[in-house]
Amino acid sequence: MLDWASELGEVLIPQEKIRERVKELGREISEVYPDGAPVVVGVLRGASVFHADLIRELHFPLSIDFMAVASYGNATRNSGEVKLIKDLETSVGGADVLLVEDIVDTGLTLSYLLGNIRNRQPRSLRVCSFLSKPARRAIDVTVDFLGFEIPDRFVVGYGLDYQQRYRNLPFVATLKGI
Ligand code: 5GP
Repeated sequence: MLDWASELGEVLIPQEKIRERVKELGREISEVYPDGAPVVVGVLRGASVFHADLIRELHFPLSIDFMAVASYGNATRNSGEVKLIKDLETSVGGADVLLVEDIVDTGLTLSYLLGNIRNRQPRSLRVCSFLSKPARRAIDVTVDFLGFEIPDRFVVGYGLDYQQRYRNLPFVATLKGI
C-alpha cells in the first residue's frame, strides 16, 4: 500500500469539527430559505464532498446542479484565468440559487461564477464556501455562509486535491513541503 499518509503535514480541521460545522451551516441556511426550493449548485470537483454533506443538513425541498470550472496556473496558485467547462443543466432565471464552493482563495473563481450566474437573472444568489483564505483575497467577494477561515496554507482533503489526490480524506490537512 502507498504510504500517502506520510506526505501529510498537520491536520488543520479534524473530521468531527467539520461534521459539527456542516450541521450548523445547515441550520443557518435553513433560516434564509423559509419557503425552500433553492437550486444548490456545487462547483466540481472540489466542492463535491462538502455539497453532498451540506444538502443532507438542509431539511426542506431543494434541487441540485453542478458547474465545473478550470483555473489556470501552477499546481497550487491560480493564474487568474477561469474557464467554464461544465454548465448548469437547470435554467436558474427567477430561481433562488445557493452556490457551494470548496475554498475562496484570491476570489477570482467565485467572482467569475457569480458574474456568470447573475447574467441568468436568478431571484437570489448566495454563496456557501467550506473554506476561505482571507489573507489571499485579490477580489472582494461576499461569502454568505462560511465553514472555516484558514491561514495562507495549501490544504487538501474533504474534496480538495493536490494533483487530483487526497480528495477522499475526511479531514483538512496541509502537505509536507508545500
Ligand atoms: P481562487 O480563484 O479563489 O484563487 O481559487 C479558488 C480555487 O483554487 C479553489 O476552488 C480551489 O480549486 C483552488 N485552491 C485555492 N486554495 C487551495 C488550497 O489550499 N488547496 C486546494 N487543494 N485548492 C485550492
